[in-house]
Amino acid sequence: MSAFRTLDDLSDLTGKTALVRVDFNVPMDGGRITDDTRLRVALPTIRDLCAKGARVALLAHFDRPKGKPVPAMSLAPMAGPLGDLLGAPVVFAADCIGAAAEAAIVALGPGQVALLENVRFHAGEEANAPEFAASLALLGDLYVNDAFSAAHRAHASTEGLARHLPAYAGRSMQRELDALDLALGAPRRPVVGIVGGSKVSTKLDLLQNLVAKLDTLAIGGGMANTFLYAMGHSVGESLCEKDLADTARDIIAEAKAKSCEILLPVDVVCAQTLGPGVATTNRDLGGVAPTDKIFDAGPKSIARLNAAIDLAHTVIWNGPLGVFEISPFDAATVAVARHTAERVKTHGLIAVAGGGDTVAALHAAGVTDDFSFVSTAGGAFLEWMEGKALPGVEALRPR
Ligand code: ADP
Ligand code: MG
Repeated sequence: MSAFRTLDDLSDLTGKTALVRVDFNVPMDGGRITDDTRLRVALPTIRDLCAKGARVALLAHFDRPKGKPVPAMSLAPMAGPLGDLLGAPVVFAADCIGAAAEAAIVALGPGQVALLENVRFHAGEEANAPEFAASLALLGDLYVNDAFSAAHRAHASTEGLARHLPAYAGRSMQRELDALDLALGAPRRPVVGIVGGSKVSTKLDLLQNLVAKLDTLAIGGGMANTFLYAMGHSVGESLCEKDLADTARDIIAEAKAKSCEILLPVDVVCAQTLGPGVATTNRDLGGVAPTDKIFDAGPKSIARLNAAIDLAHTVIWNGPLGVFEISPFDAATVAVARHTAERVKTHGLIAVAGGGDTVAALHAAGVTDDFSFVSTAGGAFLEWMEGKALPGVEALRPR
């Protein structure tokens, strides 16, 4: 993406130190990493900079130490596993600024890597204190941000540093920005959005931004109940935010004004209680009984959404269509996920998805690798879908 400087704009970096912000907030259990995906995601950027001869100093946060050193939140346990993945030793520095950091970096040869201690051990990180960013900047010659997942935060290592040093997007950041641009920035139309999840209240900004950008918006999950209720349908005892009925009607009106077609479920899967393998009933709208709870979209709704996807060039998806954690209420999510994946393979559909539960649902459906891009960035992905400017991304724009 031409709006950002990337590693392609760098050539020989011998004698230079690159300060690289990565996301190493990995799941840990008793000092052991249980999923090293985030370490692997950083490898292309680290390898690229090493190949250009740079000394690489990695900046990262782990957990929430709230501005003071907390030994249990040290990054020290990550140096070994990262070195194993890189196939070269990674030196650990016990602080991310000052003498300890300086000594570790000075001792590096070209193409060698140091991991600096948790940036959040300093209060200046989350406060984005200029003097803390300046202390970080003293350590290097250039700044590379490869942590899209932290880009919705204006912290010293995600935003402030870019004010002190020439700033570049790392490979993983670049991949994420390219995918997001393909899905919503300058998408091939028609674009179909799928938004599910439990509540309208958590996704208001997202829905409002999307109706202005999409050709079709399919609403599913618990939040569809609020829309169905707002349109006068009975939803029994389903999860439903009745106080948001006006808001739901406003969103429908806004969609109409912006020529965005809204797809709501036309049939639903109900049960009396939630549990694996409980008795279910398929209901058409109008047939939902007072004691019913809606936990998934029905077969007619699945077919209608899949037909819309068949006409689309681009699909952007956040939020499961039902209570996917509990079978059989994963049926609609799995069916639409597999159909989408098939269209990617057979028709060149662009399909981009993100969100914590969405990633888990697509993984369970076995389609993660078939989608064009699945973002694991969580909050940053959602804020981007809401149309918000991400401070960590904005800071990378050349000024
Ligand atoms: P994401 O993490 O991908 O952004 P959300 O957190 O918004 O997604 O939504 C996921 C949650 O929505 C899941 O826990 C799922 O069980 C819940 N959900 C989906 N459909 C329903 C429904 N009909 N009733 C209650 N909860 C639902
Ligand atoms: Mg969630």
